[in-house]
Amino acid sequence: MIQLARKNIQSLKPYSSARHEFEGKADIFLDANENPFNNGMNRYPDPFQEKVKARIEEVKGISPKNTFLGNGSDEAIDLLLRIYCEPGQDHIITLPPTYGMYQVSADINNVAVKKVNLTKDFQPDTKAILKAATSRSKILFICSPNNPTGNCIKRELIEALIQQFKGIVVIDEAYIDFASDESATAFIGKYPNVVVLQTFSKAWAMAGIRLGMAFASEEIIGLFNKVKPPYNVNTITQKAALVGMRGIDDFKKNLTKIIEERKQLEELLPEFSYVQKVYPSDANFLLVKVDQPNELYDFLVRKKIVVRNRSTVTLCEGCLRFTIGKPKENQLLLKALKKWAKKRIPN
Ligand SMILES: *Cc1c(COP(=O)(O)O)cnc(C)c1O
Repeated sequence: MIQLARKNIQSLKPYSSARHEFEGKADIFLDANENPFNNGMNRYPDPFQEKVKARIEEVKGISPKNTFLGNGSDEAIDLLLRIYCEPGQDHIITLPPTYGMYQVSADINNVAVKKVNLTKDFQPDTKAILKAATSRSKILFICSPNNPTGNCIKRELIEALIQQFKGIVVIDEAYIDFASDESATAFIGKYPNVVVLQTFSKAWAMAGIRLGMAFASEEIIGLFNKVKPPYNVNTITQKAALVGMRGIDDFKKNLTKIIEERKQLEELLPEFSYVQKVYPSDANFLLVKVDQPNELYDFLVRKKIVVRNRSTVTLCEGCLRFTIGKPKENQLLLKALKKWAKKRIPN
């Protein structure tokens, strides 16, 4: 997949940092113009985050050779666009309704976006996607479980697209830990054009440290490493991730709790007369179609509860998106929704 990358990236000679060039063991570091007085942060971070990647291998079984870490998944999305898409010439394909960052990142990089809507059951229209694709279609973004709809994309459709799409297929799995489906990382050894994105921001409860993962072939990881800023993941983030990944039991406990809470809300929400539909979810949120979405949104804000208004998004007309909170928070949401049932004046 090197041939697919922009010519300037293929021939790029990356910046070689001091911490990267010297690989042996030493006692005295006078190579990087750092401040010598130790406060735990005075040294540049490990540019390739080896300890974090080794721990990720223990947790997920994916080799550090197939792992890139970035300042959130958003950095990985931006780097993919810069690696593969010639501004003003190439384009990406997205499958709306989906995550907004693909479009924003493309706009920033002056890369066009071809949109092929999901079908009514929020699955990719493989025929239409392949028909829309040209030799200038460099990246196809598939989000599974999809944000904001919450469902997983069917595995056989993902595999069919990987096989038939001539560019890079990115599977964004920000919510995969909440899902019953398997990760697409199993496709990485099988196909050269697969990139799987995951993040510490959702199930791992570390949105604040900004750490995202991209898993791919060694070749693609090599391109990421060439293009990334040398010290893209800071020392504090690397330390926090290692601490966070110690608590696998907490991770599992919270995950189970959130899924239980989601199931409970999934059952209770349809009882409100103004709720038209609760879409099935494999994530930590629910997409809910209601009468008068804007009025309900404003009412909840007055009750100091903020949800996401998706009512103007293609195929999500009339929908609000509720993130699953703590049990107490979800109870307060239900209480407010009950009040709204009494208060509202249907039109
Ligand atoms: C939340 C989310 C992410 C996470 O982005 P980070 O930059 O890692 O916080 C990625 N993709 C999707 C679809 C998301 O909803």
